[in-house]
Amino acid sequence: MLQLSIPLHFLGMMYRELRQALTDIERMFGLLAVNEDVADAPDARELPPGPASVRFEAVRFAYDPRRPILHDVDFQVPAGATVAVVGHSGSGKSTLARLLYRFYDVQGGAIRVNGEDIRKLTQSSLRAAIGIVPQDTVLFNDTLYYNILYGRPEAGRAEVEAAAEAAQLGDFIARLPAGFDTRVGERGLKLSGGEKQRVAIARALLKDPAILIFDEATSALDSKTEKAIQAQLERAAAGRTALVIAHRLSTVMNADEIIVLDQGRIVERGTHAALLAHGEHYARMWALQQQEAERAEGSA
Ligand code: ATP
Repeated sequence: MLQLSIPLHFLGMMYRELRQALTDIERMFGLLAVNEDVADAPDARELPPGPASVRFEAVRFAYDPRRPILHDVDFQVPAGATVAVVGHSGSGKSTLARLLYRFYDVQGGAIRVNGEDIRKLTQSSLRAAIGIVPQDTVLFNDTLYYNILYGRPEAGRAEVEAAAEAAQLGDFIARLPAGFDTRVGERGLKLSGGEKQRVAIARALLKDPAILIFDEATSALDSKTEKAIQAQLERAAAGRTALVIAHRLSTVMNADEIIVLDQGRIVERGTHAALLAHGEHYARMWALQQQEAERAEGSA
């Protein structure tokens, strides 16, 4: 019985892990089905493990040929650096992440990881190198432990605990009567948006990917939660190549470079300080968000 139950449990986990991964990815990417146009090239190579640089090279893309979404988008994320993409809703920020994960292929230019065109890499090795913290994390009706373990099902208990600790979930879990064995999800304990995001960060940390895509939640947060998320993002991105899709500019003030996207074109780029000094798009967005934050604090 024991012999049988172990593989069954493992299969169950694999299934749930796959379903979880698909759910998160579908949510993040707004996909209903896997795009069949993207396939491994017959001579596709494996992306070797290790630090990775990312380069978008004159990338052009449209979901519908009549409506171009990205126009010659060109930027790079050196290995270990953090680049943030900001811009109005619909400017094409999440599309960049979908293309890097290769849910679609670019129609002009190329995306390169360590100099290799991602169309020449196996999808499995590319995706193994990328961890995603989605906007809205779905939790399974399972224990907190298994919810974190989905990040890397073969990880050991100590690794799961270390990932939870690093994602600042340690105190929260210690206060729960059943600790890691607390059931969460729709039929269990309901977690707040910030707690769910920390579970997603713990999963990503457990996966330990070279490249991290962090898709910041759009929902309004109080300034304390916002600061906590900023700190967690910085910790999770440390030592990795990070592409951050940001809605709140305060989250990405410390990014090595901030790209401002407007209707699929890069209209400005630089550090927070340089962009403020430039006094154009970013500075206007910053002023507007500061006013909104002050109003929200004032009415709180
Ligand atoms: P937000 O800040 O609201 O998340 P965004 O900058 O991330 O927006 P994208 O999700 O990249 O924007 O979308 C860019 C444009 O592409 C939008 O006009 C959107 O309507 C369109 N779009 C996104 N996904 C698809 C799709 N699967 N099919 C067709 N059009 C799409």
